[in-house]
Amino acid sequence: MGRAFVYVILGGGVAAGYAAVEFAKRGVSHGELCIISEEPVAPYERPALSKGFLLPEWIELVLGTRVKSADVRRRKLLTATGETISYKFLIIATGARALKLEEFGVSGSEAENVCYLRDLADANSLVNVMQSCSGGNAIVIGGGYIGMECAASLVINKINVTMVFPEAHCMARLFTPKIASYYEDYYQSKGVKFIKGTVLSSFEFDSSGKVTAVNLRDGSRLPVDMVVVGIGIRPNTSLFEGQLTLEKGGIKVNGKLQTSNNSIYAVGDVAAFPVKLFGETRRLEHVDAARKSAKHAVAAILEPEKTGEFDYLPFFYSRVFAFSWQFYGDNAGEAVHFGDYSGSTFGAYWISKGHLVGSFLEGGTKEEYEAITNATRLKPAVEDLAELGRQGLNFALTV
Ligand code: FAD
Ligand code: NDP
Repeated sequence: MGRAFVYVILGGGVAAGYAAVEFAKRGVSHGELCIISEEPVAPYERPALSKGFLLPEWIELVLGTRVKSADVRRRKLLTATGETISYKFLIIATGARALKLEEFGVSGSEAENVCYLRDLADANSLVNVMQSCSGGNAIVIGGGYIGMECAASLVINKINVTMVFPEAHCMARLFTPKIASYYEDYYQSKGVKFIKGTVLSSFEFDSSGKVTAVNLRDGSRLPVDMVVVGIGIRPNTSLFEGQLTLEKGGIKVNGKLQTSNNSIYAVGDVAAFPVKLFGETRRLEHVDAARKSAKHAVAAILEPEKTGEFDYLPFFYSRVFAFSWQFYGDNAGEAVHFGDYSGSTFGAYWISKGHLVGSFLEGGTKEEYEAITNATRLKPAVEDLAELGRQGLNFALTV
């Protein structure tokens, strides 16, 4: 059994959705485009885990179907149902999967009250577990995006939360200790407890297989009603290992999002692409990069002569409780804090080799976020760090 398409998008997540919409906008013909996704639903906006994409119905959707092997030389994908799908151009948008505790030697991820959060099925099961233990105790493992966002949601849903992570403060890869302590203080004021510098060593179960307590490496034991795990992700590259060049754990692409094979492009969390602004290849795990890389790849496929190099300014954001922050660029070099850390608007710039390379802002207005975006893209020279701290947002607004 086999079918052939001009364009095949492998994966049904955020990047796949944006690529499909871009193909539709640019007018590919009926029967030319196919999306293959392991998920049983059409691509949706993962951060909201609810809003669907409005895809034209003529796109061939092969859902609930895992691709189990890829033959790059013959331009063919083989699905778990035994179908062969061939392509002229392939966009790899396989994203990433949540890292499991088992990869750190802890078993128990399959227990019904241990939750991960990557797709719609995970989100539904997390909500069910949460509703079944109102007023109970949750342990959140990991102090990154999932940990911080889920801890806030659990508290809002009247569950007692203890966060456990190995670092000295939350969001260690992005936040400075000063930024982290602002949010941690607020979380603590809402009753969240932090256990830092240690990791989970084992679970205890009841006779039905539910987790009843967690044991930490520091020797402590915490009774629990539910566990949420957010300990990072692994890009889904395995179909292409040995066939395409990999870098930074992802599939290496050039400025046109093209892999080491001319007919194959990679976008979203799985792609390691050149960030022109920093002269470096990066793999970014954020939705803005997924959306923009997907659109750029489609433009590069359909209009190769008119499409330049992808010139992307990294952008991350989060919203928890009533907070909302945005970050642009790179958190390299020295951080200079500004604003009122006892109020609601504050931020930081990162200065590397005498230039501003990154900007963080909590509680900004639209104009202020635009200003830090522009300032970061311009990479202005900064000589006096103390003066930059005094100027704060005015620096970005007047640069
Ligand atoms: P994904 O959206 O993960 O899609 C990958 C798709 O490929 C899936 O449909 C998967 O089933 C499919 N697939 C994989 N392998 C196969 C195979 N072999 N066969 C068939 N199909 C396959 N980022 C932000 O910037 N801001 C946020 O607020 C934010 N919130 C988030 C909240 C949650 C709960 C999560 C999980 C992520 C969040 N992110 C956020 C990150 C953002 O969602 C990702 O960066 C984005 O989804 C990456 O898009 P992608 O298309 O590359 O991968
Ligand atoms: P992150 O990489 O953000 O954070 C993982 C956290 O878990 C880190 O603090 C990490 O520490 C810690 N950790 C690693 N191993 C262990 C362990 N064995 N025990 C306890 N803690 C551990 O990943 P998340 O899982 O939070 O998020 C998954 C993906 O979803 C990411 O790609 C993220 O970008 C995306 N996402 C983005 C959001 C946003 O942009 N607003 C919102 C939600 C998800 P260390 O740094 O030492 O490894």
